[in-house]
Amino acid sequence: MRIDIISVLPELMESAFAHSIIKRAIDNNLVEIKLHNLRDYSEDKHRRVDDYAFSGEAGMVIRIEPVYKIIRILQSERTYDEIIYTSPDGTLLNQQEANKLSTLNNIIILCGHYKGIDHRIREHLITKEISIGNYVLSGGEIPAAVITDALVRLIPGALGDESSALSDSFQDDLLSPPVYTRPAEFNGWKVPEILLSGNPAAIDQWKFEQSVERTRRLRPDLLE
Ligand code: SAH
Repeated sequence: MRIDIISVLPELMESAFAHSIIKRAIDNNLVEIKLHNLRDYSEDKHRRVDDYAFSGEAGMVIRIEPVYKIIRILQSERTYDEIIYTSPDGTLLNQQEANKLSTLNNIIILCGHYKGIDHRIREHLITKEISIGNYVLSGGEIPAAVITDALVRLIPGALGDESSALSDSFQDDLLSPPVYTRPAEFNGWKVPEILLSGNPAAIDQWKFEQSVERTRRLRPDLLE
């Protein structure tokens, strides 16, 4: 899988992709993540990529020309399955969507900034708009890092133990059961007895019951 991320502040995402599971996936050639600075595609000598809003609102708007230019260059090199724009009014990201995106070959993620991007980019170039929550952030860089993290960990081989992505919360519309590690007792606080029983079938049953109980209590909407 290849992910091209276009942004006015690519540095903001560098660390997010330089550690842990994502770094390992890159090192193992499971994913290629390319950060592009939109300013490199500006025709302005000061490398500006924004301009005032015609509607007179405060806040600058990312211009169409540099975005058009980089998207067309990337598309001349390969075909893209989706060109995603991160936007608070996009479809809310969830695990099902992450699962779907993780099966694609090439995607572009365009990060907005300032007041947003010229709406013609959204009308003519973008194929999917994703929000990471009902709140407004300063830029699309953190959302792009969130989207990338959520889907890279689902690429087969990205996690050390492949089955562990499947047992995460939301995968069967159930929250994950609680997890414990050693010591079995700390300060008099004990790990549930069953986990020390050495009986895998009983432990699986307990985990399922815990998942259902926690989902019913914390996220009843998932069971509907
Ligand atoms: N004026 C816009 C918000 C601009 S915020 C509006 O009211 O909808 C600047 C940029 O940050 C956006 O262009 C978008 O790319 C990104 N962004 C902000 N909040 C986001 C969210 N919840 N999910 C995804 N992207 C977001």
